[in-house]
Amino acid sequence: MEASKLLTKVLKEKYGKDIKSCTDKQIYYGLLDTTKQLMADKPMIKGEKKVYYISMEFLIGKLLSNNLINLGVYDELEKTLAENGKSLAKIEEVEPEPSLGNGGLGRLAACFLDSIATLGLSGDGIGLNYHYGLFKQVYKNSLQSAEPNPWIEDDSWLNKTETTFDIQFGDCTVKSVLYDIDVIGYNNGRNKLHLFDVETLDPSIIKKGIDFDKEAIKKNLTLFLYPDDSDEAGNLLRIYQEYFMSSNGAQLILKELKDQGIDLHEMDKYVAIQINDTHPTLAIPEMIRLLCMNEKFTVEEAIEVVTKTFAYTNHTILAEALEKWPLTYLQKVVPQLLPYIFELSNRVAKKYDDERVQIIDKDNRVHMAHIDIHYGHSVNGVAAIHTEILKDSELNHFYKIYPEKFNNKTNGITFRRWLMSCNRPLTKLIDDTIGEGWKKDADKLQDLLKFENDSKVLDSLYDIKRGKKAELSEYLKEREKEEINPDSIFDIQIKRMHEYKRQQMNALYIIHKYLEIKGGKKPSTPVTFIFGGKAAPAYVIAQDVIHLIKVLQKIVNTDPDVKDYMKVVMVENYNVSYAEKLIPACDISEQISLASKEASGTGNMKFMLNGAVTLGTNDGANVEIRELVGDDNIFTFGEDSDTVIAHYAKADYVSKDYYKKSAVIKEAVDFIVSKQALKAGNKVSLERLYNELLNKDWFMTLLDLEDYIKVKDEAFKAFEDKDSWKKKMLVNVAKAGFFSSDRTIAEYNKDIWNLK
Ligand SMILES: *Cc1c(COP(=O)(O)O)cnc(C)c1O
Repeated sequence: MEASKLLTKVLKEKYGKDIKSCTDKQIYYGLLDTTKQLMADKPMIKGEKKVYYISMEFLIGKLLSNNLINLGVYDELEKTLAENGKSLAKIEEVEPEPSLGNGGLGRLAACFLDSIATLGLSGDGIGLNYHYGLFKQVYKNSLQSAEPNPWIEDDSWLNKTETTFDIQFGDCTVKSVLYDIDVIGYNNGRNKLHLFDVETLDPSIIKKGIDFDKEAIKKNLTLFLYPDDSDEAGNLLRIYQEYFMSSNGAQLILKELKDQGIDLHEMDKYVAIQINDTHPTLAIPEMIRLLCMNEKFTVEEAIEVVTKTFAYTNHTILAEALEKWPLTYLQKVVPQLLPYIFELSNRVAKKYDDERVQIIDKDNRVHMAHIDIHYGHSVNGVAAIHTEILKDSELNHFYKIYPEKFNNKTNGITFRRWLMSCNRPLTKLIDDTIGEGWKKDADKLQDLLKFENDSKVLDSLYDIKRGKKAELSEYLKEREKEEINPDSIFDIQIKRMHEYKRQQMNALYIIHKYLEIKGGKKPSTPVTFIFGGKAAPAYVIAQDVIHLIKVLQKIVNTDPDVKDYMKVVMVENYNVSYAEKLIPACDISEQISLASKEASGTGNMKFMLNGAVTLGTNDGANVEIRELVGDDNIFTFGEDSDTVIAHYAKADYVSKDYYKKSAVIKEAVDFIVSKQALKAGNKVSLERLYNELLNKDWFMTLLDLEDYIKVKDEAFKAFEDKDSWKKKMLVNVAKAGFFSSDRTIAEYNKDIWNLK
């Protein structure tokens, strides 16, 4: 049945009304039902071999628009709704955003599921169904505060299944419940995202903000996602969650294999298991335990087949983010796993003397990544430079043992969400210019290069950007109560708040610019600086950076000498839906991490695809962006990763030296504790940040600040040459094909999974 007819029928049954007389909310729930039925009608993707992608996070975002696009019914429904006086875009606003991830790592998992299904590969996600997901960010007195973010309604994308497993912990046993979300490929069949949950969850234990009783495991297990994406969690609940996911995942995979009558000794021929960072590591000893306890495997046999089945993706070289659990914690949470962890550890100790490759260290901490590397068959980094750093320094001692296990898989993003859904005018322009082939083969975007001197195409590209900037201006007026100039340069930095990402460096530039304007040096083109990002509630300095930016927003936007030349907006509760509005409207994409510290980044790819020009360091995937677009179409600055790594090795970076040497740096840093700033903000927070920058600055903000100011000014200048800027935009879009997650997944499949 046509989608519109089905929608009409659903609305009639549900509300007894036709489209015209339904509210947007009713139509949303009607569309939810309609879409779920259309998806259920799609065949499951079948293959001889299947991949399971296990991840603590799946930052899937709203699903309606994407599912309609992948089903091929978006245009039809949009038209029918418009004929009845309804706007699909407005109806999409009704959907709550599932907040099942922190940032890039979780969003990657979501893009991968879309691409696996789109390539027609059989592959399911395995994760947890956090009822309150990541916290909701609200500002109070220019400081971040965290509130619960319930997203599950009576009607949602979740489908409850009959599947349940017993999960045994040291002090209790819980029964799991499995919910599935259908994942539909673009013009293709269906896979599943499996989200495990507990029935005994009790939200009434949530107290103030996001505080709750951490010890009531049965009541709290899937309440919240741990709100740190790169700091060591350091708490027992996280291990309970990790084991809950790992054991459920292992049991589900074994069940599916046994249901098909497969000989588990040959498991690796039928399944591949990719683990997203170290969080699902316990699935390795758990799978070995289950094979030994229930399937009569010897330890030897279990280790052999498990090693051939598991593969590990490394996402970071930040030492504090590499999970190391004290043995005593594991003893309390998963005592049944300890004999297996000791066995795995002893085997390594027998073979290798090197302390750095041991699973259990001298302080009796269990290094999760080391389990993955020894007992998996593949270790991959997520961008070329990141994998090289793993091989040459961070994991060099492992690389020497297992050179054949190491490989690179540069991250990607799904173009269905990050272009076709979030930027329909640009999608149409590309279709009209080069045809639709790029939607299945992203490399074809390069055909756009033929139009590098076609003023009609270039003008359209620019007009579309201008239109998106106007839309965003309207949205920010409503949401953030800030008026911005759609003809100003939109300079955007949106990502988790972390010192290594260096939002503080951007803030120091803003101070510099503000003082310049106050001194009479007016910029010829106004600029709007937009930020978005959450800070982990325990990460004090990251909260201080948010505070500084909010204080600057207050000072700059109300200063009559300045506000016509620059504005600052730090948006509240940055998430996937917000990203979808911000990215199409961006002129300059801020990717300014300290070289060597951003493994890949994927925000950088989303911006490029939407015609923004990158201002960035030679870090993560920025390096590959630069190689693709060429130096004329990107702005890079700062010390390279070798230099930064050498500074850490020699411990010779002293931020105060940079402060003393440069009047410009000194002036900007001092402003943080100026009378004017202290009057607008919180003394404790601003002074703490000031002292941190002067006396520690672990992520070397001041190292690159002068170069950053210089190159950023060049970028603003370049924006004024409209004709050459339009070409930069076009080249960025045309070269973005490499960053399709379809390419990434095809590589995972070819080198690691070998499906089909
Ligand atoms: C893509 C994305 C990220 C990752 O951004 P980076 O700039 O790569 O850190 C984080 N959060 C959301 C909501 C995203 O969509």
